[in-house]
Amino acid sequence: LAVPEKPNTWRDYTPELEAQLQQKVTLQEALNQAIERQELELYFQPKITLKSEQCLGAEALLRWSHPDLGRIPPDVFIPVAEKTGQIIEIGQWVLDQSCQKLKQWRDQQLVADNFVLAINVASQQLIQSDFAQKCLNTLQRYQLPPSSLEIEVTESGLMTDMVVALEQLCQLAAAGISIAIDDFGTGYSSLAYLKELPVSVLKIDRTFIKDMHVSDQDKKLVETVMQMSENFNFITVAEGVENEEQLEILRGFNCELIQGYYYSPPLTEKALLQYLHAIND
Ligand code: C2E
Ligand code: MG
Ligand code: MG
Ligand code: MG
Repeated sequence: LAVPEKPNTWRDYTPELEAQLQQKVTLQEALNQAIERQELELYFQPKITLKSEQCLGAEALLRWSHPDLGRIPPDVFIPVAEKTGQIIEIGQWVLDQSCQKLKQWRDQQLVADNFVLAINVASQQLIQSDFAQKCLNTLQRYQLPPSSLEIEVTESGLMTDMVVALEQLCQLAAAGISIAIDDFGTGYSSLAYLKELPVSVLKIDRTFIKDMHVSDQDKKLVETVMQMSENFNFITVAEGVENEEQLEILRGFNCELIQGYYYSPPLTEKALLQYLHAIND
């Protein structure tokens, strides 16, 4: 088992470290202008019901295209934005854009009324004392029902300041926004917190789904998580489903929702709408 690196530990100076620091500064500077230069874009990955193969919703995933640096993956720039605090502004942009798009789709009847759009929320956002209010204000501004939005938080995102996070999540849940635990199984947290949180969706991390069809251990692990999820009355989403074998195993476990390349990668808005049109006909 890999032991996660502790934050703020001393590291000896190396040229690689220098290069990493340099890159961080560059990315930080570039990120500062990303919003106003309209370099950010949302992609949308469909979530499909295993039983009826309908698309009940999608997850908004951020994409950044810089004119010189090219396409920078979120796994690279999100951690930088989290470190620098830029994630607050970026996260607000994601929330606003998501609501704006969803409102358009609903008005043009391109999605059903029960279509849910999920956004990823970083811990810094979650521990702002007005985060829930910001979400509700944005929904109201676009005349969207709270039930059309889902918030995805990771276990580590919750652990930063559990008390404040819990307060915000309770406000969101009370208003009707559904809360999903993202990348479930990869964090530090104990199971005890699950019953404290107003969670309704559990997303099983794709590292467990990945080898399920070749590893009995992984298969058992997913089965155990599925059973637990069912006992808690959570809706379970399997992340990163790429092939038929994985899908069949999940069918046996009664998994509700599937997200992964097997059905669709994250899509541009235009491609998502085409996808929905095709799948719903
Ligand atoms: P995540 O929220 O767990 O999103 C799922 C990631 O898995 C996405 O990567 C998606 O493209 C990828 N994925 C989906 N299906 C498959 C599959 O079948 N196979 C494989 N190999 N990958 C699959 P992406 O878009 O690169 O995003 C990476 C992470 O960046 C996200 O993980 C999330 O933690 C973060 N992120 C993305 N957008 C945002 C955002 O708007 N705000 C915040 N705070 N974080 C974001
Ligand atoms: Mg997510
Ligand atoms: Mg995930
Ligand atoms: Mg992830």
